[in-house]
Amino acid sequence: MEETNFDCHGCVFNRGSYCESDGDCLTGEKHGHQKEQAELSVKDIYKLAIDTYGRDNQLNMAIEEMAELIQAINKTRRYPDSIKAKDNVAEEMADVAIMLEQLALIYDCHNEVLNWKEYKIEKILKNLMKD
Ligand SMILES: [Mg+2]
Repeated sequence: MEETNFDCHGCVFNRGSYCESDGDCLTGEKHGHQKEQAELSVKDIYKLAIDTYGRDNQLNMAIEEMAELIQAINKTRRYPDSIKAKDNVAEEMADVAIMLEQLALIYDCHNEVLNWKEYKIEKILKNLMKD
């Protein structure tokens, strides 16, 4: 995992990608990167989640979110006119999308995923053209 650049790497609260201290940094610098104040990219937030909760917990979370999406899709089959059920699918799709991005970081396979997607989409098109 690449290291994110912050101002106070000498701080004992710095866990590599962010600083845990709520006060002034022990290095004497003002914290520019407290969790709530930091201007983190989405990727930084995912890395922080993986660092904080751990790889195994995030893998479990990914599995749980995928199961929730399956359940949500199933509910739309039972209640095809329910706006709430449709909205729940959207919410669970967002959860799964977030977890898929974390999986790409955990398995370090972002480019492989993009290549597979390109290949699979071409394959879909080829199959569609056959008929
Ligand atoms: Mg969910």
